[in-house]
Amino acid sequence: MSNDTAQRNSKPLIGLSASAGIGFGTAVVLERPDLTISARETVDPSSEQGRLHHAFQTAAAELARLTDQAKSELGQELAHILRSQQTLAEDESMLEEVAAEIIEHLVSAEEATRRVFERYHNLFEELADDAYNKQRVADLDDVGDRILRTLLGVETVDLTAVAAGSVIVASDLSPSETATMPRDHVSAIVTEHGGITSHVAILAKGLGIPAAVGVAGATGAVASGQTVALDASEPETARFYVAPDKRQTEDLERKRTDLAERQKEIQKSAGLPSETTDGRLVTLSANIGSRADVEEARKRGAESVGLYRTEFLFMQGRVLPDEETQYRAYREAAEAFSPGMVIFRTLDVGGDKDLPALEMPAEENPFLGRRAIRISLARPELLLAQLRAVLRASAWGTVKLMFPMVSSLGEIRKLTSYVNEAKESLDRDGFDFDGKMETGIMVEVPSAVLMAPEFAKEVDFFSIGTNDLTQYLLAADRLNEGVREYYASFHPALFRAIQRVVEAAHREESWVGVCGELGGNPLALPILLGLGVDELSMAPSHIAQARHLIRNSSLAEAEQLSSAVLRCETDQDVLQLARSFANRR
Ligand code: PEP
Ligand code: MG
Repeated sequence: MSNDTAQRNSKPLIGLSASAGIGFGTAVVLERPDLTISARETVDPSSEQGRLHHAFQTAAAELARLTDQAKSELGQELAHILRSQQTLAEDESMLEEVAAEIIEHLVSAEEATRRVFERYHNLFEELADDAYNKQRVADLDDVGDRILRTLLGVETVDLTAVAAGSVIVASDLSPSETATMPRDHVSAIVTEHGGITSHVAILAKGLGIPAAVGVAGATGAVASGQTVALDASEPETARFYVAPDKRQTEDLERKRTDLAERQKEIQKSAGLPSETTDGRLVTLSANIGSRADVEEARKRGAESVGLYRTEFLFMQGRVLPDEETQYRAYREAAEAFSPGMVIFRTLDVGGDKDLPALEMPAEENPFLGRRAIRISLARPELLLAQLRAVLRASAWGTVKLMFPMVSSLGEIRKLTSYVNEAKESLDRDGFDFDGKMETGIMVEVPSAVLMAPEFAKEVDFFSIGTNDLTQYLLAADRLNEGVREYYASFHPALFRAIQRVVEAAHREESWVGVCGELGGNPLALPILLGLGVDELSMAPSHIAQARHLIRNSSLAEAEQLSSAVLRCETDQDVLQLARSFANRR
C-alpha cells in the first residue's frame, strides 16, 4: 500500500489482545514464501526418494535445534510444541507414505510431500473442532512447509536478524518461525489469524511481548519499514495503529508510562504477605505444569502451587512416565516450595488434551467424554503409579492431592479407596510419605456445585476450575471461537455457584481455592475475595499484580461488591460493577 494511504489511515485496526502491553516500532511484514511446485516431465523415483529422506532428516534436525533453543530461551510450552513437530518429522510411517506416493504415481518428492500432507491436513481439519486441534493442524502444515522448503531450496523464514524495535506483522506465525525471534528486538507481534489460545499468543505471553491476534487486514494495511504501534493493554480489544498520528502517539506513550508506573507500584508489594488492609490473609499460588515452571513461579513470587497440571509430564515423550520419573519431578516441586504447599492434580487428559500414548478412541463430544478421572478410573495401574509418586513426594514438603472433573460421590469414594491402596502398598514397600496428606477435588462440573455440602464431608478442600465450570454451566465450549459470546466469564450464575461452594466448604471447615483463569483476573479478584475464597491460584505472571490488589483491598469492601454481584442479572451488570469498583480504587 502507498504511504499516502497509510498516513491517512490513522484509525486503528481492531483485533484480540493476546499478550498485554503497548509496543511501538518499525513494521516487519512477513511475506509467505513461494512454495509453487513446477511440474516435471520425467522423474527418477530412487533419486526422488533420496531427496525426500534428506529433506525429512534436515527438517527433524532443524526442529531438534529449535526445540533445544526454545527450552533454554523461550520456555517449556514452545519447546513442547516444537518437540511434537520434531516427532512428526521423524515419523517413519509418514516418510514411508510420501515415498510410496513417489513410486505409485511417479511424481517428484515435492509433489508427493504436498499431496500426502494435504491429505492429512484435510483429514485433521475435519476432526479439529476445537482450538487445540486446529493448532495441531497448523503444526502439521508447519512441518510440511519446512520439508517442502528444503526440497525447493527456499530459505526458511528466519527472524534472528530483525533489527531492534521491530513489530512483526504476519498473516500467521508458525511456532518454528516464532522460535527464531530475538525477544529483545521485537516490540510487538500482530497477526491476522489465530485466537487467544494460539501458539503465537502463548509464546508472546511467555516472552512478555505485547501481541494481538485476529487483526483482519493487517498485512495489507502496512508496508515493512512503516512506523506502527500496538495497544494491547486492555484485556480483550487490541488496537493496531499504522503510521499513528502525533496525538495517537502521545496518548499511547502516556498510557505506556502509566502502565510502567503501575508496574513499579505493583513491585512494591513483592515479598510482602498477601493480606487485605483489614487483615484477611489469602494464599497466593501458581498454576504450573512442568519442572521449568517451578523456577519461573518462584521467581514471580509464588508462595505455593495451587495447581500442578501433571498431564504435561505425560505429554512430553512417546512413553508414559513411570512412578519413579513422576516421583522425581513431584519431589523437586515439593522441595522447591516447602513449607509452601504444592497441589498435584492427577492426570487430566481427554477433552482438548490428547495423549497419543494412551491410544484413546476418537469421541463425538470429547469434553463430555472420557476425561480426567474417568480415564484414571478406567486405568487403575496408571492411577496407582501416580498416587504412589505423589505420596512419596509428600515426604519432602507440603504436598496435597487433587482430582479433576469429579461429578459424583461414588467417584470420590472410589478414588479415596485407591489412595488408601497406594498408601498400603507404600507401607509394604517401606517408603515414607505424609499419612495425613490432604486430598481435594476440583469443582468443574455443575453437579459438584450442587453436591458440595455432601462432597465437603469427604474431602479436605475444593479448588474451583472456572475454565471448565464456565463451559459446563453455560454449555459453551471453552475453545470454540464461534461461541465465544456465550462463554461469559462474568456470568452471575458462576459467582452464585462459587458462593454455594464456599458456604458448603466452610460449614465443614474445608477450604476453597480458585485455580481457573478467573483467579488471576484483576476484575474478578475482589469479587472472589468477597465471596470468601481462601486461595487463588494463577499463571505466575499474574501473581505480583494479585498480591498488590489484595494488599490494597479491604475485605469489607470486597464483601459489599460480591453481595451486589450476587444480585446481578446479567454478565454485563457484573462487569460494570467490577469495573467501577476497580476505577474507584
Ligand atoms: C479449569 O478448568 O478451570 C482448570 C483450572 O483446569 P484446566 O484448565 O486444566 O482444564
Ligand atoms: Mg479443567
